[in-house]
Amino acid sequence: MIVMWICQRALRRAAVVLALLLVAGCGANGADAGSDTGGEGAGGPLTVAAFYPLAFVAQRVGAGQVEVGQLTSPGVEPHDLEPSPRQVVAVSEADVLLVQSGFQPAVDDVVAQGAQGSVIDVATVVDLAPAANGEGIDPHFWLDPLRMATLSGAVAEAYAGTDPKNAAKYRSAAAELTGQLERLDRQFSAGLADCQTRTVVTSHDAFGYLADRYDLELLPIAGIDPSNEPSPQRLAELADLVDAEDVTTVFTETLVSPAVAETLAAETGLQVATLDPIEGLSDETSDEDYLTLMQDNLKALIEANRC
Ligand SMILES: [Zn+2]
Repeated sequence: MIVMWICQRALRRAAVVLALLLVAGCGANGADAGSDTGGEGAGGPLTVAAFYPLAFVAQRVGAGQVEVGQLTSPGVEPHDLEPSPRQVVAVSEADVLLVQSGFQPAVDDVVAQGAQGSVIDVATVVDLAPAANGEGIDPHFWLDPLRMATLSGAVAEAYAGTDPKNAAKYRSAAAELTGQLERLDRQFSAGLADCQTRTVVTSHDAFGYLADRYDLELLPIAGIDPSNEPSPQRLAELADLVDAEDVTTVFTETLVSPAVAETLAAETGLQVATLDPIEGLSDETSDEDYLTLMQDNLKALIEANRC
């Protein structure tokens, strides 16, 4: 009986890994299955993470024991993701699911209908804040390193519960990641302590948690959802504010068209630079990870705000 159970489990795992590898293979960068799909897991919990920052935590805390797939393909913007039929199967087969309810409604439905494994819902683990525009919750918690540290502890406990024999490995990996996140937090605090301006113009309103943590003032061109285009009145209003606040730079971002930011920059004579909301990796950032991208963001902010 035990042998049969092991065979069934192995087949199930193979089917899910195949689905998740295909998910990654269909991303914008085609051939790269990506490190987030794992494949070296040593029999630990099979994990499905909804999008990149969650997959990053799942992989790091997994300490080489888990296979991690993500529902949002590389190069794809995670807002309003629609899972494919294969992904629906992967969700039902996962031992651990790492999702953020309220951010990707179609994923919420799939999880509610089909998840068999243990579900870690970021919304119940991390303290989420209201959106700056007053419409619902701001989903972009991962841009605050200390909230990411909270999540890594919760993921370690979920893994420990599912795979008790490796509990110490998961907890020690989470402690190491937490140490790196706390160091990142100290670097941001020190790097942005003293700046000529604290105003940051961004193309969508993803940086509320970061701004709150490090006392920056955001001027988002678009709203929380990056597909919203600003009105001509909003652009004119922004041009005035940019003047008044002594801003040097309009930040555009990866995964979203820079056209709107470039329009504003052209109208105001500002520079255009990239601030990455780290919603997913792209062709240009496929060799990076959450920690290195946050370091790039810090450098860009220090330069733009003359800190
Ligand atoms: Zn976003």
